[in-house]
Amino acid sequence: AEQTYQCIGCGATIQTEQEEAIGYLPNSALQKGIEKGEFYCQRCFRLRNYNELQDVAIDDDVFLDKLNQIAEDDAFVIYVVDIFDIEGSIIHGLSRFIGRQPFVVLANKVDLLPKVTNLRKLKHWVKVVMNQNKLFPEEVLLASATKQHTLAEVINVIEANIDHKNVYIVGVTNVGKSTLINQLINHYGGAKSIVTTSNHPGTTLDMIEIPLTDDHSIIDTPGIVRRSQLAHYLSRTEIKQVLPTKPLKPKTYQLNPEQTIFLGGLMRMDFNAGPRAAFTFYVSNDIYIHRTKLSEADTLYQKHRGELLSPPGPNSIENYPPLVAKKIHLEKNQDIALSGLGWLTVNQPVDLTIWAPKAVALTVRESII
Ligand code: GDP
Repeated sequence: AEQTYQCIGCGATIQTEQEEAIGYLPNSALQKGIEKGEFYCQRCFRLRNYNELQDVAIDDDVFLDKLNQIAEDDAFVIYVVDIFDIEGSIIHGLSRFIGRQPFVVLANKVDLLPKVTNLRKLKHWVKVVMNQNKLFPEEVLLASATKQHTLAEVINVIEANIDHKNVYIVGVTNVGKSTLINQLINHYGGAKSIVTTSNHPGTTLDMIEIPLTDDHSIIDTPGIVRRSQLAHYLSRTEIKQVLPTKPLKPKTYQLNPEQTIFLGGLMRMDFNAGPRAAFTFYVSNDIYIHRTKLSEADTLYQKHRGELLSPPGPNSIENYPPLVAKKIHLEKNQDIALSGLGWLTVNQPVDLTIWAPKAVALTVRESII
């Protein structure tokens, strides 16, 4: 059998194939490691030498197994979610695995919301979605991992729970977990050193322990891949188009019933019934919005998907799941959150059909603006 090597930092089995997976080491570095007789995977190497953390991905069932460890440890858990994709950020079974450990939810990327957003209502909605998924956080914190000054509250919460030995940071991929940890490492003046797995006999954790003080550590856990996240169906360039990177600017359309709006080829909204109304879309500025008659929508989509109606572009349209219709009644003080994209709102009660990939959650909430 082929020789296997373990990373001294996280205990992962070293591999040279998948850059975004656990234990990755480029081949050249593997050779050097063999000469020296010690191995740090790329993730641990960067953390040690540059105080910079990169995320790795893992499937959720594998991850939940590992989380059993948290239930036994003296842990405090920070569960990071993406404010634009709360449903896509849900880790089903998290509560079962972290047992009775206290946890807070950090709802990230708040900097992308329009300034006029009602943060109290937003927080409330995050709580509601959590509770619907049988998750009962002690608190919901709003933050921007990219903006150090918004992290004061998170740091306070960490300090207030310092009697717990370890702070675990969990979350699905792309929610901003590593950005957050990098900020925390900065705040605490750099990671002291990586603790080796020998402190955890008999376990391969794929988790990285980052000591902040002599007694306390932050534990980075691998990012869970949720297949329902929109990003899994798009190319890298398209993800950049779709995920907001600047504060969202509302785009408003006055529509009559029997009209349709396409958000590129990602989703479609049919206005079935109701008075003439103003529809406001809060989505990335780079998504092409197309208005047409309901009677022409099917033909238009068949003809122009992947081209005029993009993203998804010609290369990803075949992988993009079919759009499935869902009827939704919306009151005038409500939003539909479009998981991964943003949301829409309307100034009259209306009956709609939203067409989206089946896995992409559509939830109605009280308007946050
Ligand atoms: P991870 O996979 O959970 O570790 O996520 P990353 O930390 O790699 O972040 C994913 C993407 O979201 C990156 O492009 C980040 O720059 C971006 N990001 C993370 N946090 C924030 C935030 O608070 N605001 C904004 N605008 N972008 C963020």
